[in-house]
Amino acid sequence: MQRILQRVIPAVDTSDGAGVKLRRSLGSAQFQRLDPFLMLDEFRSDDPRDYLAGFPSHPHRGFETVTYMLDGRMRHEDNLGNQGDLGPGDVQWMTAAGGIVHSEMPQQQQGRLRGFQLWVNLPARDKMKPASYRDIAATQIPVAQIDAGTRIVVICGTLQLGERRWVGPAPAESAARLYLDIQLAPQAALTLPVADDDSGFLYLYEGEVLVGPQAQRLPANAAGVLGPGDAVGLQAGGDGARLLLLMGTPIGEPIVQYGPFVMNTREEIEQAIRDYQAGHLVGTS
Ligand code: MN
Repeated sequence: MQRILQRVIPAVDTSDGAGVKLRRSLGSAQFQRLDPFLMLDEFRSDDPRDYLAGFPSHPHRGFETVTYMLDGRMRHEDNLGNQGDLGPGDVQWMTAAGGIVHSEMPQQQQGRLRGFQLWVNLPARDKMKPASYRDIAATQIPVAQIDAGTRIVVICGTLQLGERRWVGPAPAESAARLYLDIQLAPQAALTLPVADDDSGFLYLYEGEVLVGPQAQRLPANAAGVLGPGDAVGLQAGGDGARLLLLMGTPIGEPIVQYGPFVMNTREEIEQAIRDYQAGHLVGTS
């Protein structure tokens, strides 16, 4: 059964970090989430004033941040000694878990900066584990070339189309089960198999696309939450389409969020704030 578009979460213009302009769909309000996904930010600008300030040193605890660059460069540094330079097509998969303090700074004075940051929740049993971090170069990420102008970048999970199979390099233990960046040629139609039990959403960032058996139009720059089913049907408009497909296994636990900390209880949030203020967010106190 093909999934239908069940709900649309429009993106809200906002800013974060030291003043980076963003479009936030998932996570724009506490109820606008889709377990296990907490937030999706799209950053896209040709104007350096929108991004130069970047995201100076800040903490995270209790979840994962996944950064996917389309254009431009971003440099990451954290208090565990990791450093990374993300360019077009690169992915940074950062499992903050028990805690990390890092900065994410644009490495350009001009030109286009464009990409996405997704927040994926962790279950209670993983929230206080040691942080881990992976930079995934674009060259390590498989691309399913369907035909001229239609291609799918498989960032995480398995895409199976007939006999052909592509497996993304991102960590298998994440609640995010499938992360695809889909480019459709004009008028191209595509049906993608997905796990029946997983929640999922689409995010259209270029062009036009119709979804599912009822050919529902997915608004641009909005998260389209999918209903149940084992396939996602897509039909591009006359200029083609570019969109993300995210599928994940719901965690089903209470969520208490305070900015960059996402835990299960208010007490755990208060502990996170105390730990950060005391300078030992990471590791044992
Ligand atoms: Mn961050």
